[in-house]
Amino acid sequence: MDVPAKIKVGEFEIALLSDGLWRNDGGCMFGVAPRELWQREHPADDRNRIRLNLTCPLIMRGGAAVVVDTGIGNRLSSVERKIFDHGEGWLPDGLKALGMEPGDVTHVVLSHLHFDHCGGLVRRRPSGVLEAAFPRARVMVQRGELEIARGTRNERLRAAYRHIEECLAPLENALEPLDGDTELMSGVDIRVTGGHTHDHQIVAVRADGGGCFVHLADIVPTRSHMKGPWNQAYDLDALRTMEAKADYLGRAAAGGWWVSFAHDDRVLAAQVRNDRGRLVLDESIAMPALERGRG
Ligand SMILES: [Zn+2]
Repeated sequence: MDVPAKIKVGEFEIALLSDGLWRNDGGCMFGVAPRELWQREHPADDRNRIRLNLTCPLIMRGGAAVVVDTGIGNRLSSVERKIFDHGEGWLPDGLKALGMEPGDVTHVVLSHLHFDHCGGLVRRRPSGVLEAAFPRARVMVQRGELEIARGTRNERLRAAYRHIEECLAPLENALEPLDGDTELMSGVDIRVTGGHTHDHQIVAVRADGGGCFVHLADIVPTRSHMKGPWNQAYDLDALRTMEAKADYLGRAAAGGWWVSFAHDDRVLAAQVRNDRGRLVLDESIAMPALERGRG
């Protein structure tokens, strides 16, 4: 595996890890945007699926190593692996390529508890047993997200969160529910956005001397979602997603921030620029090794 690309933000180094490429229904990914428009940049296969990534930024300073979201991991059944075209999960390989081990990860921040963000919390061993993938990490998620994921009786939400008991069972003691916006450490902020899920959260890193990096998770999952009305059909409150997106992307364009895209198959992260009222990518970091295809 190639050494993951890194961004410097002040004292922080941010490595853009990926848990691999996968596929999901294009219509679900773009909501009310017509296929005629989204398929230009995101061609669908014969099952209407588009290629996506699982970007998991690793934020490092001193001994701190914070992973934001964990991808799908290796716990899916063989049927699910075919549906989503995802294999073993690349996160452990990415850490290894950086000269790190899973035990070096000090924190995991989960934007929300859908399977493509929390699946990599656990690793399935050859025996079939699931273990914590990052044995020393404190795992942070909004309390509201946890409560809804575990307690909802709504059919749609129950389906969306059907994976979580398996993902959370091996790390009950590591879980740290958060109540709203939280400063994880100096320079690293967790902010609740809502929108995609009721308590969806994002992570922002800011340097003392200026410079900022933000992982907007499922608020702006691909470069195409920078367009206001292009939101996922999964979003519980698409109008809230639009507000959060306009706010963060506006500040990112004004301040030259780095923005990473949770699911873009080509661009891991980019600086965005306002080009006569339209947000466009400036300097960007490409997803390497696309030819590996199905991970
Ligand atoms: Zn997602």
